[in-house]
Amino acid sequence: MQLRYSFRLRPDAYQQKALAKAFGCSRVVFNDAVRAREDARRAGQPFPTAGQLSRKLITEAKRTPERSWLAEVSSVVLQQSLRDAESAYKNFFTSLKGERRGAKMGAPRFKSRKDARQSVRFTANARWSITGSGRLNLPKIGAVKVKWSRTLPATPTSVTVIKDAAGRFFASFVIDTDPAADATRMPESDRTIGIDLGLTHFAVLSDGTKIDSPRFLRRAEKKLKKAHKELSRKQKGSKNRAKARLKVARAHARVADARREFHHQLSTKLISENQGIAVEDLTVAGLARTRLAKSVHDAGWSSFIGMLAYKAERYGRTLVKIGRFEPTTQTCSTCGVKDGPKPLNVREWTCGACGTVHDRDHNAAINVKTAAGLAVSACGAPVRPGAIPAQREETGSHGFPTEPRAA
Ligand SMILES: [Zn+2]
Repeated sequence: MQLRYSFRLRPDAYQQKALAKAFGCSRVVFNDAVRAREDARRAGQPFPTAGQLSRKLITEAKRTPERSWLAEVSSVVLQQSLRDAESAYKNFFTSLKGERRGAKMGAPRFKSRKDARQSVRFTANARWSITGSGRLNLPKIGAVKVKWSRTLPATPTSVTVIKDAAGRFFASFVIDTDPAADATRMPESDRTIGIDLGLTHFAVLSDGTKIDSPRFLRRAEKKLKKAHKELSRKQKGSKNRAKARLKVARAHARVADARREFHHQLSTKLISENQGIAVEDLTVAGLARTRLAKSVHDAGWSSFIGMLAYKAERYGRTLVKIGRFEPTTQTCSTCGVKDGPKPLNVREWTCGACGTVHDRDHNAAINVKTAAGLAVSACGAPVRPGAIPAQREETGSHGFPTEPRAA
């Protein structure tokens, strides 16, 4: 399976300029490809092939005065941009046909220089390399300083260079994992666990453990709130407002990093300790307009579940997602009687049938585990109800503009 490892880059002034050029050219080629497709569609003609686009939008375009500057960047970057446009269309069409999982995708849109995230991709044949002194050598850009926060487990097949909204540069490498090494790292376990994602705690486990977001994350969130408040007090169009906006972007990035770090640590721990993991399927779309929706969004549960999914696949674990509408909070986990709806403020309740006193979230976590059929069978082996394959998309097609923690 493929994973991404991201590292902070420290390009010098010259390299930043060269990267800006690469971002710009890659964007122009992408937009030209979208336009060519749109024009063909409007004229009722067949879509141009990848080969035709490559010839017209790169090779021939370089000879025109309007696009001559395309020659200043690595042509592999431009080819990759064409391929990205192609796959954006492919995803769009499979989504239209209903063959693609997840939310419906829109048609590819034009990219703008004002987009918060800029990126270029270098594939294996792009003649990029990691130098002996640990710099990332990119064609027509140079040897860029890298902050290696961990070692790469294998030789990467491609690298994407990203500039995020906070103005930071990252290199995101794609690595093929080694199944043998993974099996040694996380041997099989006979434990199973149910997870309830709730409002009062980040997660409550079926063994009674309550997990809150760590202090470093709460501190980053507090700083973000403060930065937001300062921004709202600045006059529109003023220099101070621009400064405050950058501060907000940086605080945002720090919160996102801290949250990702927390999610990585927790998901790795849960996957390492348990063979079977059951969790409620929080399809955020289904929660729209509920009180939980904001909380789900803020806590980033979907990305947490995504991590559980790809790590389960990587380490041979079973992740079971159960429907959001199983009455996990209403059912007594001791006797199975449905005790009726419990308002959100009820944190503890007594079962009317068997008299067991329940902690709301702990009871729900046990029910999640049971509903998933993960109760350990008589011989002690975990029962495996139809394993749900981890989502490919979660494994690395998202840029993780952060320190690498693809544990
Ligand atoms: Zn009961």
